[in-house]
Amino acid sequence: GFKCGIVGLPNVGKSTLFNALTNTANAAAANYPFCTIEPNVGQVPVPDPRLYKIAGIAKSANVIPTQLSFVDIAGLVRGASKGEGLGNQFLANIREVDAICHVLRCFEDDDITHVDGRVDPVADADTIETELMLADLESLEGRVQGLTRKVRGGDKEAKATLVVAERAMAVLQDGQPARALDVDGDEETRILKNLQLLTTKPVLYVCNVDEDSAADGNVHTAAVKGMADRQNAGMVIISASVEEEIAQLDDDAEKAEFLETLGLGQTGLARVIKAGYALLDLITYFTAGPKESRAWTVARETRAPAAAGVIHTDFEKGFIRAETISYDDYITCNGEQGAKDAGKMRLEGKDYIVQDGDIMLFRFNV
Ligand code: GDP
Repeated sequence: GFKCGIVGLPNVGKSTLFNALTNTANAAAANYPFCTIEPNVGQVPVPDPRLYKIAGIAKSANVIPTQLSFVDIAGLVRGASKGEGLGNQFLANIREVDAICHVLRCFEDDDITHVDGRVDPVADADTIETELMLADLESLEGRVQGLTRKVRGGDKEAKATLVVAERAMAVLQDGQPARALDVDGDEETRILKNLQLLTTKPVLYVCNVDEDSAADGNVHTAAVKGMADRQNAGMVIISASVEEEIAQLDDDAEKAEFLETLGLGQTGLARVIKAGYALLDLITYFTAGPKESRAWTVARETRAPAAAGVIHTDFEKGFIRAETISYDDYITCNGEQGAKDAGKMRLEGKDYIVQDGDIMLFRFNV
């Protein structure tokens, strides 16, 4: 599955956000640095009203949303790239995620210690990014020697990798993240990805604000917005403590009412998940039937057999074809039979690129 890593300086609200996201209280939130030690992984259902419409039409007994994983990554401090604090562990954990959810403190509260003694989310973002850039530089420096040796031995792949590695180093030495590197074509993109740098991962800034700023943000979130725009990064405003309260309400009507009093249309969590989906360039397809309706996540541009493989590897290996109905046709024709009758069910082969919202039935050999 796809993983978003939640990072940020100590005491910015990571654990609170993670708890709210995963609706559990087991990742302790307390007012001191290094509170979160082990990375916690939480599976978070992706809210999608389309799934419930489909399930209603298909009269499904079960409805199963698709999920995104969030990893609460141990606290990062200045000096992490030198192994200070929980630095090394942090960097190892972050290497394994597909995208970075960077929580920034945008709330004022004299009772909650800020590691640098002031609320300045843009400076905080810079502190973390600097550590990640230093870690990337170090990892590249460590690889250049080996690559140079291989190039001398006539290794073509090493030669191409060395070119990209050296250009990435130049960008990093210039004080910029590796994602600022101008890659030239698919081949360089592949090589850069293989280098597994931390600063090539897409970033979503999550501005953690107080209840009063939850609807419209504040001076701090405005500063983050400017930074995010310059970096082509995503940005959402949430109040982690409000989200935690909402997560504890069982009743959906109660939740909706609470959101309304705060001037919010949907939970910040829904917005974080949506933004995470957009950041990772993911789409959803559906399977539907009387037993269950279910949503599945794939990367955009995924072909039908690989999409089927998300359900079961046998579906991919024995793939024959996919009976496909677009979401709009499924709704307009009131389900599978109606869509068939209207000629809206397509038989798609192995080259079909699955589209967001497709309702798929895979035919395969066992
Ligand atoms: P972490 O170290 O980044 O995981 O931060 P925590 O989630 O443990 O939060 C640190 C402290 O800040 C806790 O005491 C939280 O209750 C508090 N906190 C989190 N979000 C907010 C907020 O929006 N407003 C205020 N006033 N306090 C918050």
